[in-house]
This record gives sequence, C-alpha cells and structure tokens, in this order.
Amino acid sequence: MDVNSLHKILKRQINRHLSAEYLENERLQQFLQAVNESYLNFDRDKELLEHSALLNEREYSDINEKLKEEVSQRRQSVEKLMEAIHLIEVPEGESIADFDPNNLVGLVSFLQRQIEYRKTIEDELRKAKELAELATQAKSDFLSMMSHEIRTPLNGIVGMTYLMLQEEVPPALTENLKTLQFSIEHLQALINDILDFSKIEAGKVELEEINFDLKHLVSNIKRAQQAKAQENGNRIRLMIDDDIPDSLIGDSLRIGQVLTNLVSNAIKFTHQGTITIELSLENRTEDRASVFVSVQDTGIGIAPEKQEAIFTMFTQANSATTRKFGGTGLGLVITKKLLELYGSAIQIDSEEGKGAKFSFTLDLAISHSVPSIIATADALDTKTLKGLKILLVEDYPVNVKVALKFLSMWGISVETAENGLVGTNKCREGEFDLVLMDLQMPVMDGYTAAQEIRKFNADVPIIALTASATFSNRDRAVLVGMNDYVTKPFNPKDLFYKIAKYSQRQINV
Ligand code: ADP
Repeated sequence: MDVNSLHKILKRQINRHLSAEYLENERLQQFLQAVNESYLNFDRDKELLEHSALLNEREYSDINEKLKEEVSQRRQSVEKLMEAIHLIEVPEGESIADFDPNNLVGLVSFLQRQIEYRKTIEDELRKAKELAELATQAKSDFLSMMSHEIRTPLNGIVGMTYLMLQEEVPPALTENLKTLQFSIEHLQALINDILDFSKIEAGKVELEEINFDLKHLVSNIKRAQQAKAQENGNRIRLMIDDDIPDSLIGDSLRIGQVLTNLVSNAIKFTHQGTITIELSLENRTEDRASVFVSVQDTGIGIAPEKQEAIFTMFTQANSATTRKFGGTGLGLVITKKLLELYGSAIQIDSEEGKGAKFSFTLDLAISHSVPSIIATADALDTKTLKGLKILLVEDYPVNVKVALKFLSMWGISVETAENGLVGTNKCREGEFDLVLMDLQMPVMDGYTAAQEIRKFNADVPIIALTASATFSNRDRAVLVGMNDYVTKPFNPKDLFYKIAKYSQRQINV
C-alpha cells in the first residue's frame, strides 16, 4: 500500500507507530483505507461547513443592507409626505405641526379627513358656480325685461320726434326737436350697446354667412357718416384695393357694425382733419381672401398707457372725453369681441395728439355668386311700397299711431288689430300682403296668433315687432312660422326694407 497517498494525519500516525511488515497485512490495509476515507470525509464536511457559514453571513448582510435602504426610503417618503401635508390648506382648528412621522395610521386618517374637506369645498364651489350662472341668467332676463320696458315708450318718442321734424314747425321748436332727437339717439345707442354686449358675453351672437360686397359696404358707411364728419370739419377718404373680390361671404351687418364703430369714433375724436379708411388685399387663394382693414384719423390720439384700457368695459381714455364727446365706452369692447368671432385681433397704433389708427385683418370666403344688394339711405323711395295692404297687430296705442304715420307716408293701406285674436280673425277674413305682429299682447300673444294664422295661410309674410331683447325671440318667432322680426323702437329704414323684402318690392339702389 502507498502510505504517501493517504491523509496526512493518518500517514504521520502510521509512520510513527507501524513498521513496514505490518502494512503487508491485507486486513490492516483495508482498515487503514476505511480510516483514510473517514478522514477525507471529515475534511470535506468541515470545509463545507465553513463555506456555508461564510455564505450565510454574506446573505444576511445583503438583506440587512436592503432593509436599511428600505427604512431610509420610507423615512424619506414620509418626510416628503409631511412636507406636502404642511403645504396643504387645512380647515380651521386642525393642526398638522405636531405630526409623528412614524404614525402612519394617524397620517392616513388625517389625509382621509383632508379628502373629505376638499370634497366639501368642491361641492360648495359647484353650488357657487350654479348660483353665479343663475345670477347671469337673472341679469340677462332683467336686461331683456328692462329693454322691453324702455323700448316700448322710446318707440313712441322716436317715432313722434321723427314725424314732427318732417312737419312744418317754427325754427325754435326745430332746434329743440333736434336736441331731443340727439338725446334719443344716444339713449338708443346705449341700450343697443348694452344689449349687444350682453348678447356677445352670453355667446349668443352667431355670425351670418351671406354674400356681400365689402367695398360697397365701406362706401355706404362713408356715405352714412359723411354728415357727421362734416359737422366736425372732417374729410373721409377711401383707399380701396380693386383686387378685393366683389363678393365675399360673411356677416355684413356685424362687419358693418365694426367699421361704423371705428369710423364714428375717428370722426368724434377728430376736428378739421382726415379720416382714412383703407382696404387692401393681403392674400388670396382660390376660395379665400384676407383683407387688411384700417381706419386712421388725425385727431386727439390715445396715450400708449391708455391703449389697453379702452378695450375694457365702460372705459374711456379720460373722463373729460365723456363730457365732451359722449359715448358709452362699450363700442370698442363690442368691436374687439366681434372681431374675435372672426378669429381676428384689433391693432391700435397711436400717440397722444397725433391721431389714431385701428386695424385688423378679415379672412373671408370668396363667393362665386352675385352679392345681395345693400340698401342705402337714398333708396327709401316712397313709390316702392305704394299700394300694399298690411295688417298691423299691436296693442300699444302710441305705437299704432307711430307705425300708421310711417306706413301711410309710404303709401301703404293699413288695417289694425288690438290683439292676436282680433288679428287672426281679420287675417282669415281679408287678404293682406304682409302682417306686422307685436309679440306681447293681451288676450292672445303674437306667437300664438302667428301659429293660428299659419294653420290656414302658409304664405302671408309675418314680421314680428318686438321690443323685447330676449335672445331666443328671433328663433321662437321663426319657429312659430314668422318670417323675420324688427326690433322696437324700429328704425324706419329697417322696417321699410323688411317690408320691401317680404312683399317682394324691388328697391332701387
Ligand atoms: P365710446 O362710446 O366712449 O366712444 P369706445 O369703446 O368706442 O367708447 O371708445 C372708448 C374710448 O377710446 C373713447 O372714449 C376714447 O377715449 C378712446 N378712443 C376711441 N377711438 C378713438 C380715436 N379714434 N381717437 C382717440 N380716442 C379714441
């Protein structure tokens, strides 16, 4: 047997205690082999044991590290949470300053209370919003009612003053009547502006899309403003680019309103000067045209620091202006909002004492059909409506009187009815070219009467006469079968054109 191949301890013992002849013995050899195996096994186990202890220690320290990290992360999160909690607004009496970061349960229940508190606030906000909406509705109802109340008597005053001015009156009285007319016009403008403004605010303005000639519209505005310009010694100059298409699509009334506002301001704030209205084509495609529009004057101008304020409600550049020039302070607000509906912004370029220039760009679709004729002041030809037979349904005697004067002046023969029921009966019995229908009347109102008339006569044009400015009036009138409406106090020209339009009488422009 080779002693050197045995375990070193066993080898040492054999060398010390056994001589070579003993090693010849086979049984002893077997015994020594078994002992040798045991020694080797013992060594292996020992080694394994040592190794596994080492492994456990490493794993343990790893886990420990991870735990420490988690604890520190948790502490940081809680600290962040605490920081955030300190930032939130708590209801009165609730304190968060002495919170224990280790008391997570307390923290969670605190947060729960906060969520409930927030929910209560949200509920209160929602209720406040609903109340505010109700208040807005009440405001608009109030405006509508007031305007009705004011417009009805105003209608009488406007009409009578207009008619008195047409008659032969002593010069002193003419002067007084003119002053009266001036005040009425101001009052009318104020009411219209306020109503217009609240209508725009309430998002109730819808732009119409009709064919119109912008160049023609601007010339008409110039003509309409000419007299006022001359009173101030002003000259109006037009600079119109011929390349602008003749027929565009847009709301000519609203665009006209914007231009009229700017031109009449320019006239108001300029003396012995020039007002230049410029239209130039900025861009054109097959279907659309961009038109640059500007109104420039050589008047008093506006200091830069006041230029923003004049676009806010009821603001004028200085209070002396109001006394000297009048005005509501709403014109530019309305102008700006109307242009916004067209996706356009108004620009102002001015210096105090050096005049002002207001400009904007309109992007409109090009129409390929002929524009509708825009009636002008000169077109109020008394022959146009001569011979028409109209039924006037109106309960307020002053209004009947005023309307009768105008209608007969235009050569129209008129039958009257004092309420909707009488009107419906008269309409059933007689033949009329057109019906003028007041809306609020005793016994039977105008809406019901129109509905009744439509049951037996689908064709006769019915125009509503309304003093009310409820936004839905027009829609309601159309719904019950009326063709159009005229607001009171009616502008005689408006009434004239609407009658001409629906009775299909040709207006000569
Ligand atoms: P108002 O009815 O007072 O004219 P606007 O909203 O149209 O109301 O105008 C507001 C104010 O802006 C005017 O009161 C005036 O101070 C100033 N303003 C407007 N246009 C001009 C202009 N062309 N030149 C000088 N100031 C102007």
